[in-house]
Order: sequence, then C-alpha cells, then structure tokens
Amino acid sequence: MRTEEKVLGVDVSICASALEAIFAECDRYDHDETGGRILGTFRRERDGALGITVNGVIGPGPNARRSSSSFFQDGEYQAQVFRHVERTHPDIEHLGNWHTHHVNGYPTLSGGDVETYQRIVNHQNHNLDFFYALLVVARNPEASGLDRYRARHYVLFRDDNRVHEVDVERISVTDEAVIWPTDTDLVRPTPLPDVTIRVQDKTTLERLYPDIRSYQSKRANAFYWRGAVRLIDDSVIQLTVPELMDDEQPPKPFYQVFVKDMPEVCSTIVKQLGEQHFQSAAEAVYSCEQQMNRALYQAVLGAEG
Ligand SMILES: [Zn+2]
Repeated sequence: MRTEEKVLGVDVSICASALEAIFAECDRYDHDETGGRILGTFRRERDGALGITVNGVIGPGPNARRSSSSFFQDGEYQAQVFRHVERTHPDIEHLGNWHTHHVNGYPTLSGGDVETYQRIVNHQNHNLDFFYALLVVARNPEASGLDRYRARHYVLFRDDNRVHEVDVERISVTDEAVIWPTDTDLVRPTPLPDVTIRVQDKTTLERLYPDIRSYQSKRANAFYWRGAVRLIDDSVIQLTVPELMDDEQPPKPFYQVFVKDMPEVCSTIVKQLGEQHFQSAAEAVYSCEQQMNRALYQAVLGAEG
C-alpha cells in the first residue's frame, strides 16, 4: 500500500534555467512522455531536514524511446554528459529524474514509477539515501514562461516505502547559473520583433504547427523558428528554420530548414532540402513536411511494388 505524505523536512531550490530546459523539452513532446536526469547538490540540516539544490538537467538523449504512457531514457548518452559535467563540477550529484504525465493526464507518480525509484534508492550502488523525482503534471495553456506547466516534486528515501511529496511552500526558483544544458541562458524564446513576415509566420505557424516557436540567440544575434512536426507515419521530426539575409540592397530575409530525428527514408532529401531558400518560415516548414511525407509514401509504394 502506497501513501503520499507531505514531508516538511525537504526544501527544493531549482534554478530557473534548469526548469526552462525541462519545460522546453515538454514543448517539444506534447503527445508522448519525456524526461531526463536532475543534477545538483544537497545538504542535511542539523534537525535532519534535507535541502536539495537543482542546478542542471540532462535531457533524455538521442536514443530515448517514448509513448503516451511510457518513457525510456538514453542512459549511455546521459552517463557521457554526467562524466563531462563532473570534470568541472566534482561536487555535483545525480539527484533523481524528471518526467511528464501531462500528456496522459495521470496526476501523480504511477505504480511503475514508484517501483523503479524504490529499486534505485535501495540499490547498493546508489550513492545517496534519497531519490528526487520531478513530475510535470499539467500544461497551463493560458500561462507563459515558467508558469506554462505545473510540476510536483517527490522524494523517496532508502528503507522507507512511502512516497513523500515536497510542500509547494518549500519549493523556490532561483537565478543561479545552470551547469547543464550549457546554452539555455543564451537561447530563450523572445517577444516577436515587429517585422511583417515574422508576424505573418507567427499567425500561420501558431495555427498549423503549434509546437514551433520563435527564438532569438543573443550570442549569434540570430532569429530562428524551432519545433516539432508530426509526419504521416506518426514519427516526429525536429525543425530549425533560421532567418537569413540575402545580398540585395536593401537586404531581404529568406529562410532555410534543417531537420533532426527524421525517418531513415527521408535522409536522402535532407541535403537538397537544406539548400532551398524560402520566402517565409511557414513556407519552409510546410514544404519540408510535404517532401518528407512524399518520401515516406513513396517508400511504402516501393516496399509494396
Ligand atoms: Zn510516470
């Protein structure tokens, strides 16, 4: 029998950029569960209270497997990132995991989640005597920024079969620097500058491809669109559509499209696609989707023919 008890003895302090990295991953996978690892430090107070400080998250990795009700991380990738982070931050621990349930509406940890976390925290190779789990439980479509998702925080202790939920009053979001991912502070969603083509793209993309958002990279002073598109075989590709300037006087913007996570049969058209210039980001996304779907369809015809 499992209980969820609010334990007053746990404080969680999480840096805004780590939370943003989690929510950005949620934006990318709004149909399937996703998740990753949580990095940070902890301290024990004299009275036994536990203080958890989160200052990094490792994404699921390129070979993660997802569905609307399950999720398996790419452990090899995550171990590699952890070793890299450890070199510069030797005090950093793997505190636990985060994953999402807003896609299936299940408002708390599942029996399977609890079983897995208990196995981890009671394992002889587990460094810490607790395991921290952050669960994204709901999306707030009306809210923006860090309010766009709602998360619950849990701690499981060794030799204790209860699941403790951290009191919301004892969770704080800070401006501390994030240690991983390293580019989160450089690339943030920004309000849209008043450029006609960008405004038109926003209207079109919002309606047809709600996953795709505009970004401004401060370091490179670049403007681009990025997000996920679902193809006819139900696979999800990741698109980046940078805005570039031509050599005309005055210069006019044009757009290119670059694709990640595409189905095998689409890889042949990617190079040709990457060389095309489009007059708008919406046209670039639409054209890419059409060409990929055509390649998928032809592959099916070929297989049958
Ligand atoms: Zn779960």
